[in-house]
Parts: sequence; structure tokens; C-alpha cells
Amino acid sequence: MKIILLGPPGSGKGTIAEKLAKDFKFLNISAGVLLREEVKKGTTIGKEIKKYIDKGELAPYKFVVEMVKLEIHDKKDYILDGFPRSVEQAKIIEDLNIDLVIYMEISEEKVIERFSGRRIDPNTGKSYHLKFIPPPKAIMGRIITRKDDNPKVVKERFRIYHKETAPVVGYYKKKGILKTVDAAPPPKEVYDAVKKIVKDFQAKDFQKKMIKRERAN
Ligand code: AMP
Repeated sequence: MKIILLGPPGSGKGTIAEKLAKDFKFLNISAGVLLREEVKKGTTIGKEIKKYIDKGELAPYKFVVEMVKLEIHDKKDYILDGFPRSVEQAKIIEDLNIDLVIYMEISEEKVIERFSGRRIDPNTGKSYHLKFIPPPKAIMGRIITRKDDNPKVVKERFRIYHKETAPVVGYYKKKGILKTVDAAPPPKEVYDAVKKIVKDFQAKDFQKKMIKRERAN
């Protein structure tokens, strides 16, 4: 099963993707994590990418597409978190035949409130929230605020989101594979809603395959 998680910055895509990956044994591919790893390595490409991330702008799509495709390789079950982030990127991955797009809907005000508690573990890249997903005591001393979570950059990330990413919602809606989830409630509630969507999809898919097999016999 191939799933895309769509939503504005801070809608909780990373948290939900991680839980889904664990429960359904899907590979979790986060464009943001891949890009930050490249930045951490200090490569020439990494240095270039850093400029975009620090400003809240989209990194050049060629880097991102290449990194994501390399991760996917020949896998059949995966979640794409934060990718595609523009209609241009969505068109490039037409050939992947995505099954389901989950749109995590949330207001900008709610997200800004959330950002104040968001922290990241620089060693693993994992995201936490001081109130909703408290980091384990052992890593408390090293967690940091993401540089691009400061109000000025967040504002720019939202501007880019409305301009580039919001049209992707309509793009997948037209294809009939988009499901919307209210991402404002606490993580557990949001996850239960997402899990139900995935399970319903799997049940329907199973049914379709059975009917097809019966017809073939
Ligand atoms: P995220 O961790 O998903 O919030 O992404 C952090 C930053 O990485 C974004 O603000 C962009 O600068 C960059 N980024 C993440 N995903 C993409 C993408 N699909 N295309 C271009 N840039 C991206």
C-alpha cells in the first residue's frame, strides 16, 4: 500500500507516519528527515539544501525526488510524509500509482500554538512535543527547537504551503483518492481516525481482489 500524508507544517504528519509505519509495517519516508540528514552530513548538496530549509522555502525538487526515489527503490508498502509538496512534484511521481492520500486539515492558529512545544532529537531526527509527545527523560538534555520553527520562518513555510502545497489537495481530490482528517485533536484521536481510513481501504481492496479472483475462475 502506498500512502501520502499531506498537510500544513505542524499538522502532525511525522508523528502519524511513524505510528502507521510501526503498526502496519510500512516503510516511512519523510522528505524533511532525508533533507535534514543530508544537511547534517555537510555535503555540497547538503549545504545548498540548508539555505532553503533555513528560509522555509522548498528545496529544489530534483534533490528531493532523487532522494525519495532512492529510498523507495522497489518497495511496495510505504508512507510518504511531506512529499509531494507541489503539483509539479505530484506529477513527477504519477508512475508510483499512489493508493491513498490522507490530508491532515488544521488551522494556522492551532499550528502556531503547537510549534511552541515542538522539539527534535538531533541524534535521531525524531520529533517530540513537550505537552503531547513528551521526550524520554534520557534525551531531555539534548533535545532542541528546530531552527525553522521560529515564527518568522514558520510564516514563510505557511506562505509556501498555501502557494505550492495546498493545490496538491485538489490534485488528489480530483483523482478520487483523497481522504481528509481533522488534525486539530490530540495525536491519539487523530491517529485513530487515520488508522480507520487505512483499515477501511485495506478491507475494500481485499474485497475487490476477491471479486476479481472469483470472476477469473
Ligand atoms: P518538514 O520536516 O516536512 O517540515 O520539512 C522541513 C523543510 O524541508 C521544508 O520547510 C522544506 O524546506 C524542506 N522540504 C521538505 N519536504 C520537501 C519537499 N517535498 N520538497 C521541497 N522541500 C521540502
